[in-house]
Amino acid sequence: MDTKQVKAFGTEASIEPLKGMKIERREVDVKDVEIEILYCGICHSDLHSVHNDWGGTLYPVVPGHEIVGRVKKVGEGVSKFKVGDLAGVGCIVDSCRECDHCHEGEEQFCDNGWTVVFNSPDKKHGGITYGGFSESIVVDENYVVHIPENLDLPSAAPILCAGITVYSPLKHWKTGPGKNVGIIGIGGLGHMAIKIAKAMGAKVTVFTTSQAKAEDAKRLGADEVVLSTDKEQMKNCPKQDMILDTVSASHDVNEYINLLKVDGSLVLVGLPNAPLEIGAFNVVNGRKSFSGSNIGGIAETQEVINFCAEHNIKADIEMISIDEVNTAFERLEKGDVKYRFVIDMSSLAQAN
Ligand code: NAP
Ligand code: ZN
Ligand code: ZN
Repeated sequence: MDTKQVKAFGTEASIEPLKGMKIERREVDVKDVEIEILYCGICHSDLHSVHNDWGGTLYPVVPGHEIVGRVKKVGEGVSKFKVGDLAGVGCIVDSCRECDHCHEGEEQFCDNGWTVVFNSPDKKHGGITYGGFSESIVVDENYVVHIPENLDLPSAAPILCAGITVYSPLKHWKTGPGKNVGIIGIGGLGHMAIKIAKAMGAKVTVFTTSQAKAEDAKRLGADEVVLSTDKEQMKNCPKQDMILDTVSASHDVNEYINLLKVDGSLVLVGLPNAPLEIGAFNVVNGRKSFSGSNIGGIAETQEVINFCAEHNIKADIEMISIDEVNTAFERLEKGDVKYRFVIDMSSLAQAN
């Protein structure tokens, strides 16, 4: 397999800052698309991985899984993309394509394990995958989505992870008119969830620990805002059909389970590293469910991109250059971003 070196930004260890490095990318194979990366969002999962919060990080790690760019080369068997097309890549870059879940378009549940865009052994080509903090990426066309030309490109990048991760459970739990839907945490995922749940027609209540974000939540589309540190506000909150929990750190989920209607569901998408405790009586009383959801398949990723284009939904972003990425990680750790950092990848050309 022919490869070439490209510029990237990553780190050799959990305690070291990210820095410029060279990585190998394969030359396009028959079904591959090579994409020049224009923008890449920063998800809290990038931070968890770099810090090895979940264990198992393989160094050097080049994060980034909210990738948008332009196709610059296609393999001879590619039929879905041509040079010059806008293209997006999220978390999934391969899967077995044979199991029931792959056939159903839920590659994120592939029985044989799917390949993550970064920090994942590449079963087909060998080596470890490197993510979107790089000048280009080569991906099989079946794992690449189309980005409509009318979407603002930088603010579309976060749809590739934040957008699909909240869209998939919101749809699965039948968010729509007449439903009370709660969203916990106004970060990258949370702020997209507010916009998407609202566009689906639900009554949206937002729970935040940040007073400043509480003041901004209605602008994002929330109907009700609850400062979760205020016991009185929590007590007076109307009961919810479903609550989507996007919190990245340990927290008490029981106080939210208690805000569910009978048969309501608390759905976890946030990935704190420590186990969460659930009081038996909180779920038994009211036949409540505690469940989770993991990103979404490729077809559904295309669906949420089209949904956002149709409803004019954009992420609220802070655009940064690649040399600001370490500061951005520090701020993300503190929940200090409104509401997603997106890297202008053209800055990589000047970076060391
Ligand atoms: P983010 O932008 O950092 O947002 C997380 C939000 O959680 C913060 O803005 C904050 O909101 C709230 N929060 C943080 N620490 C808290 C604490 N100690 N107690 C209560 N609330 C706290 O992160 P993100 O990129 O949206 O990602 C959120 C989580 O989802 C991460 O764990 C990430 O790894 C995970 N994730 C999962 C999937 C999946 O497929 N399941 C996909 C992508 C990401 P307020 O300031 O409003 O309280
Ligand atoms: Zn993510
Ligand atoms: Zn499979």
